Amino acid sequence: MQVERGQPRLPGFEDDDTPQVTYPPAATLFETPVEICRRVFRAVRPRTPFPEFSVEFCRFANANSFIRSDASRLEFRITDALEGAPAPILEALAFILICKLYRKPVPASQRHRYNLYLNRQDMRRHLHLLRQTRGRKHISGPQGERYNLEEIFAENNDKFFNGLLAQPALGWSRQVSKSILGHFDPSHNAIIISRLLDKPNTPRLAVEYVMYHEMLHLRYPVETKGARRRFHPKEFRDAEKLYPQLKEAKAILDKLCGAAQRPETW
Ligand SMILES: [Zn+2]
Repeated sequence: MQVERGQPRLPGFEDDDTPQVTYPPAATLFETPVEICRRVFRAVRPRTPFPEFSVEFCRFANANSFIRSDASRLEFRITDALEGAPAPILEALAFILICKLYRKPVPASQRHRYNLYLNRQDMRRHLHLLRQTRGRKHISGPQGERYNLEEIFAENNDKFFNGLLAQPALGWSRQVSKSILGHFDPSHNAIIISRLLDKPNTPRLAVEYVMYHEMLHLRYPVETKGARRRFHPKEFRDAEKLYPQLKEAKAILDKLCGAAQRPETW
């Protein structure tokens, strides 16, 4: 039997005013995801015999996670966006899913902790990119209406990287995005540039500079420190400052996008 088909879904669950239950403090540091789920299950259902637990991180295109139950088994399917999340976040998610499954109020502290985490800028960015890239079967290819990304990649590679970077897949975004001018997607090994920059009135320097930024992502991968991930580590930022026409390029982008684009979002 499948309880609550595909439910509960996250995020987007409603706040409720139901009275809150207090649960004993957590000991999450050394637990595996299954152990976390078992402990939370015990806290929410003190007398129910343990079912079998399975926790799977799935390549969803968003932050949704699911719980499914039958007579002897509780199945957690969690977005892989949370695979590296700190244990207290998995604990909070386990509370939310299990409480929803058994129609119990979700402890406010757990809900709050989970929401805080999903709302962090790096998570929001990560989820945004997931939505943009997952399910994308075809990358448009380097030839735009005006510019050819392969040419620009090759030129930048010679000029700034001694020709040493291997060329990833190159393509134009489906949407004309002003907030994300480009991104490097390590899971698809692809650089995607916003179609906004392929307009007839866009100076080539804008594409060259955004491509340079994305190529720095190839050169300086994301730095992970505990729960934190640094998309633009110090070496990255130092290298970006060396771009010869930095001021000019930024001025063009400002004009194209206004306040919508900020370097930390791409
Ligand atoms: Zn970036």
